[in-house]
Amino acid sequence: RKIKLPQKIKILPENLANKIAAGEVVNRPESVVKELLENSIDAGAKNIQVVVKNAGKSLIQVIDDGSGMSEEDAILSIQRHATSKISTLEDLEAIKTFGFRGEALASIAAVSQFELRTKQINDELGTIIKIEETGEIIKEKDNLQAGTTISVKNLFYNVPARRNFLKSNSTELKHIIESFKKISLSHPEISFKFYNDDDLTFDLKACSLDERMKQIFADNILDVVLKVNEPTEYISLSGYVTKPNYLKRSKGEQYFFLNNRFVNSRIINHAVYTAFENILDKGDYPFFVLFLTIDPKKVDVNVHPSKLEVKFDDEREIYSFVNAVIRKTISSYDLVPTVSFKD
Ligand code: ADP
Ligand code: MG
Repeated sequence: RKIKLPQKIKILPENLANKIAAGEVVNRPESVVKELLENSIDAGAKNIQVVVKNAGKSLIQVIDDGSGMSEEDAILSIQRHATSKISTLEDLEAIKTFGFRGEALASIAAVSQFELRTKQINDELGTIIKIEETGEIIKEKDNLQAGTTISVKNLFYNVPARRNFLKSNSTELKHIIESFKKISLSHPEISFKFYNDDDLTFDLKACSLDERMKQIFADNILDVVLKVNEPTEYISLSGYVTKPNYLKRSKGEQYFFLNNRFVNSRIINHAVYTAFENILDKGDYPFFVLFLTIDPKKVDVNVHPSKLEVKFDDEREIYSFVNAVIRKTISSYDLVPTVSFKD
């Protein structure tokens, strides 16, 4: 005689699964800003505007003039694991875009009042998609500008525990702006506008990296940094490190981009710090903005959903290369302070 055991396991409904998965991608308003900006860049936008209200807690809106999406793609874009950026395992091993996990929009949409407006340049009408609290998707057609606008209202309105966990407006805004700076720094060819509660706080015209450095940090930033430029066939390092006599900077003023993506890398930080070892006081960190370019096949950016961490295949080689280039850059700089005597 067969006894039917009660079945305990069930597959979660999709909107609940998305809500849970959202925890990994969306921690705070800053993560939404980052994901939306990266999507706009991946879509080839040349002009991007960010609008935040109430430190992103009430509204985050990103408006771009990128490729836009067809109606079919717009509907797919908010499904989990829906991406146009990779399709095979080989693609995953050599990521060239910011996105590839196909999770951001599904996650953001699951924890906010979400609206997507999008139009491809040659389509007559654009598509508007809204998602109801029940998960129901509402679709409309309208006359829209080419590009994509995503509006994220009342983030975590349906996840009170997360909503309560958000920090003060000034803290959340600080995180958003830090992310905005990193992304705009690595894309000086794109023009960015940033509106905070209706104030235009950043108005960055498309320009060179030198100019973007000034727009982001200070007009005289180029006077206190040394240029790094070491291109080789397999690996290249470029950007800026602080002049040794301007070392007094805090942690957090180190910007490292791997194939134009901001990442936290202890290996790289260490390689730079030790290049300054005899001139660096304890507790001081050198300011730097460095861009490392290597074959995407040689790094794994898929270690963490936020993609802030990476794994290099040839960790030691990269360490030595970065360390050597920074040492060389520093040693080319005349350390003796220039003194002008009074007569
Ligand atoms: P991923 O970026 O990992 O592919 P997302 O959930 O962030 O996943 O986006 C899903 C898909 O929606 C993208 O692959 C892309 O095709 C499309 N998409 C998202 N944002 C935009 C945008 N601003 N412009 C054009 N297409 C977009
Ligand atoms: Mg994305």
